[in-house]
Amino acid sequence: MPDKVFAFTHWACFDCRKSFAKEPVARGSAARKCPECARSMIDMGPYFEPPRRLNKKRWNVMKLLVDNGYRFRSEGSRSYIDTFILQVENPRLADVEERIRADLALRSRRRRAFIDGSKNKRK
Ligand SMILES: [Zn+2]
Repeated sequence: MPDKVFAFTHWACFDCRKSFAKEPVARGSAARKCPECARSMIDMGPYFEPPRRLNKKRWNVMKLLVDNGYRFRSEGSRSYIDTFILQVENPRLADVEERIRADLALRSRRRRAFIDGSKNKRK
């Protein structure tokens, strides 16, 4: 099923700790620049809920998610992140880090199992 196309996504600047609702760019093209500091922003997805600017801890949690490839591209991905990675309203950075590590390990195990499975089918 193709992803729903959104007119706007949330572009986050982790330096300014700000998020701007702007049009997404085509895959592979340059990221939008922050209107305040001109650094590249990150497309967090339309379902991203930007933390308050002063909530540094929450921004650090979001940075950790981004650095590990998590995005808020669909309602499903948001609830996956909320349920399995963040788990609580105000999670500790170290806990989030641990859950990300476990989640990524689980996913790569599943991917391997899937690849092995399709190899067997081809025989
Ligand atoms: Zn900025």
